[in-house]
Amino acid sequence: MHNYRGITSYDDRHRHRFEGQTGRPIHNGDTHYHNYQGVTTTDDGHQHHYRGRTGPAIRTRRGHTHEMAGETSLNDGHRHSYGERTSRPIPE
Ligand SMILES: [Zn+2]
Ligand SMILES: [Zn+2]
Repeated sequence: MHNYRGITSYDDRHRHRFEGQTGRPIHNGDTHYHNYQGVTTTDDGHQHHYRGRTGPAIRTRRGHTHEMAGETSLNDGHRHSYGERTSRPIPE
C-alpha cells in the first residue's frame, strides 16, 4: 500500500486537497496496481468524491511509486482533475 497527498486542478475559482492510502496491490502480469478512493477537503462550501486505479509500478531507487490521475465527482456544478504520484510502499 502507498500513501498519497495531492491538490486538485483550479476550477470554479478554488482547489481541494486530498490524501489517503491506496488499497492492497493487485497483481497484473509482471506488475501491479492499487485501487483508491476518498473524499476531498471541503472548500468553497462543498467536497468531491474520487476513486480510481493507479498506473503500474514505476521503479525508483528504493522501491516504487505509481501515478494516479483522474477526475473527481461532479458537485456544485463542476469537477476537478488531479494527477499525483504515490509514496513509496508503506509497511502493512
Ligand atoms: Zn470543487
Ligand atoms: Zn505499489
